[in-house]
Amino acid sequence: MKLPSARSASCHFDSEHGEPVVPEEPGVIHAFLLDLDALTRTQQWVLNRNDVAFLDKPEESACGTRVSLVYPMPFNTDDPDVCPSCTTMATFWHTDREEFQVRVRLRHNRRVAREAERAAKAEKSTDLLKRSLKAGGLLPGDDESPDTSVHRAQSPRPDGFHQR
Ligand SMILES: [Zn+2]
Repeated sequence: MKLPSARSASCHFDSEHGEPVVPEEPGVIHAFLLDLDALTRTQQWVLNRNDVAFLDKPEESACGTRVSLVYPMPFNTDDPDVCPSCTTMATFWHTDREEFQVRVRLRHNRRVAREAERAAKAEKSTDLLKRSLKAGGLLPGDDESPDTSVHRAQSPRPDGFHQR
C-alpha cells in the first residue's frame, strides 16, 4: 500500500565531486512522515522540491531512525526493503493518529528507561572501579586502611599524650 502521508527515505546519501547523490545501495527504506495539515518547514521544503531531497540535518523517520535522503515517491509498505517498524508506524500515522501518538510515547518511555538503565550500569561500574582502585591503594579509602592505623599506633607521640 502506498501511503500519501509518508515518503520513502534513506539514512544516508553518497557524494560525488562534493555533491550529494542517491546511493547505489540505499539500504533499508524508512518512512519520512508528512503532517499534511501542518507541514513543518522541512516537510514543506521536501514537498516543494518534487525531487530527491537531501537533508542537511537528518530528520526522524516513523521508526525513530534518522534519515538524510527523502525520495519523491510515497512510502510503499509493499516495498521489499522497507523498515518493518516504519511500516507499522506509518500505517498508524495514516489510519489512526491516536494510536500513532500512543506508540510514540511508549517508544519514548522505553528509550528513557533504557537510558536510565545505562546510566545506572555506568554508575555501578564507576563504583566498582573506585572500589578496586581503593583496594589497590590507588585511591584513598573510605575507612583508614589497616596499614595506616598500625603505623599510627606504633609511632610515638611527641607530646607524650599516650603516657598520661
Ligand atoms: Zn524505519
